[in-house]
Order: sequence, then structure tokens, then C-alpha cells
Amino acid sequence: MSERVTVNPHLSGLRCLACGRSRPVGDDTAGCPHCREAGAPANLRCTYTATPAGGVALPYTAHITLGEGDTPVLTGLDAGRLGEADVRLKLEGANPTGSHKDRFSAFAVSRAVAAGYAEVVAASSGNAGISLAAYSARAGLGCKIAVTGSAPARITGLLRDLGAEVHVLPDLARWEYVARFRTSRTVLPVTNYHLPAVGSSPYGIEGFKPVARELTAQFGGRPPDWVVVPSSRGDLAWGVHLGFAELDAERVPRMCLVEPFPRLSAVLEEGADPRGTFPGGTRFQPSIAGNTVTLQAVETVRRTGGRAAVVTDAEAEPWHRALWRSGICLEPSSSVALLAASRLVEDGRAGAGASVAVIGTAHGFKGM
Ligand SMILES: [Zn+2]
Repeated sequence: MSERVTVNPHLSGLRCLACGRSRPVGDDTAGCPHCREAGAPANLRCTYTATPAGGVALPYTAHITLGEGDTPVLTGLDAGRLGEADVRLKLEGANPTGSHKDRFSAFAVSRAVAAGYAEVVAASSGNAGISLAAYSARAGLGCKIAVTGSAPARITGLLRDLGAEVHVLPDLARWEYVARFRTSRTVLPVTNYHLPAVGSSPYGIEGFKPVARELTAQFGGRPPDWVVVPSSRGDLAWGVHLGFAELDAERVPRMCLVEPFPRLSAVLEEGADPRGTFPGGTRFQPSIAGNTVTLQAVETVRRTGGRAAVVTDAEAEPWHRALWRSGICLEPSSSVALLAASRLVEDGRAGAGASVAVIGTAHGFKGM
């Protein structure tokens, strides 16, 4: 094991978020084996014998890092009717490769180092791929990234600049490519490849938990009433929720997961089967594209009394342009979270005096 990675001595194993069965520390990269065989795939989460007072437990006490986390929040937002609530925008674009994914990569790549893998493999045509490529390079590991044929040349160029091996494949073939490595002892899959979808590496998802500690401090020592998160398969939202639940299980913020067309909202409001695939698409919000839902996303909303919010491309485009003209350079898939927050204020779900954290997941320069 690299001396740069130290396993938390309190890390005791993994637990299924659906059936509650425990697993030893390991790499069940398609989630809980029992639930998968039962036809209802579910992700695992890390368990600990002790958690630090006032903080969150993480799988590694020393980990591969490029200086991620502790991102600032922006106040004084003047968009829609936000003034009636205390809305603060967390600038995850301030992370080393410009997105929240750096928090994930720090721990997903540290798991690969700790367990003796030589490479990681992921399906991503954007932020996750660039981030994993950077952290793999930092760790001295190889990195295979499966991208779609529609991935812009600037993205594949960045990936190659960071030393990643780029594989251009049709959409679902990307997941099949990653799945090839599910029993590999040298290459570790860290993003979802299973259909029905499960979610990404549980070690990586732990890396999102400090967002809860940071936000609590940034809202004056109290967790905000709402946290609004752009979401595809719910890795970030679930990780942030796990952090808040660990800090104070009695006061978890409601989580609002923002999506470009009804997937999670179809499950929550119309009773659609979360294991299905969902019609619709997005051209403008590629970071939260995809036609699947995960149990971890469903549970994030259900456990917090939250909601799913749809912002279509037609609504997102003018909003995004207006936001840039106010100097706020988010990527389109992040801008929509601020629009969803303004709707929470407008419809009274977040009333006057309510506190709302909006996760601005990625820097707008990614889109240039
Ligand atoms: Zn299970």
C-alpha cells in the first residue's frame, strides 16, 4: 500500500442501503450481491465502529489529494425571488479540476491504491472522467475512461493530456466495457456499469460527506433547511445526505434533486419502477443526463422529506445565460439547481427565512 493512503482503523465494512446486510471491506462494484440477485440492485455504504465528534468518518485518514474540498459559498444572490430566503451557492467549481467529482475521485482512487489495483476504469464523458484521470495521475495509477462518440474533442483532449486511456464507445457499450473489469484484480471499476443502475463506488461517495460539515459551518453552525443538488444517479445527493445524517440524524436537511426530465420524479410522484429506463433526454445538461434512477437517489428524497424537481432544457437555457450575465460562471447542469431553488422559494416550500444551500457542481469554463 502507498504510504499516501492510510485506512481508517474504524472502517468496519460495507452495508446495503436496502436490505441492511453487512459485507466485508471489498469491491462489490455492482452493489449488494443479495439484492442484485433478487432483482432490486442497491448500493452499499461504508460502516465504521466509531465516528469523530462533530465530524464525519471517512474510509481513509490519509488519502490521495489534489487539494479538494472546503469550497466557498456565495451569498447575496439576486435571482428570481431568492431574497426572501437565505440562499447560498456552494462553488464546487473551485475544486482542483473544476467540479465536485474531485471529492469522489480522492476516495475512489485511494481505495484502488489501498487495495493494490494498478488502474481505475470509468464511464464518463465529462467531469468524472477528467477528475478521475487527474487523481489517477497523482496516485501513479492507470486510468481507462469510456466516453460516448458525442463527447467533445476538448474533453477527450483533456483526458489524454491527463494521461488517461480513452475508449470511444456507444452509450450502453460504455457500461459493458466497464463491466468487463468487474472481477479484475488489477483494474477497479469506480462508476456504475450495472443496469438497473446502482450508483458509483461507495468509497468515492464517502468523499461527498464533508460537504455536510462545511455547509453546517457556512450556515452559522446549523444545517440548512434545504440542499438543492443537480442529480443523475444520485451519488452526490446520497453522499451529502449521509454526511448530514452522521452529524445529526435528527436535523437532516430536505434534499431537492434536480433533473432535466422526469426520472426520479416519475418514480416518486407517479409510482414508476425505479429499475426501469425513462424516456426523455437533454442536450443542454449533459452532466445530469442518463435515463436511469437509483435506489440511493430515491432513498435520499424519502429519508429527508425532500423532492425531485425537473428543469427542462427550454427553461434552463435562458436561465443559464442570465446567470452568466450576472457573473456567475456555472456549467449548465449546475445553473439549473439555482433555478430549482428559486422555485422552492416561490412556491413556499422554502419560506421567508428558510436556509437553502445550492450545490453549484461544476465550473462554467468546462463548457468552453
Ligand atoms: Zn441488499
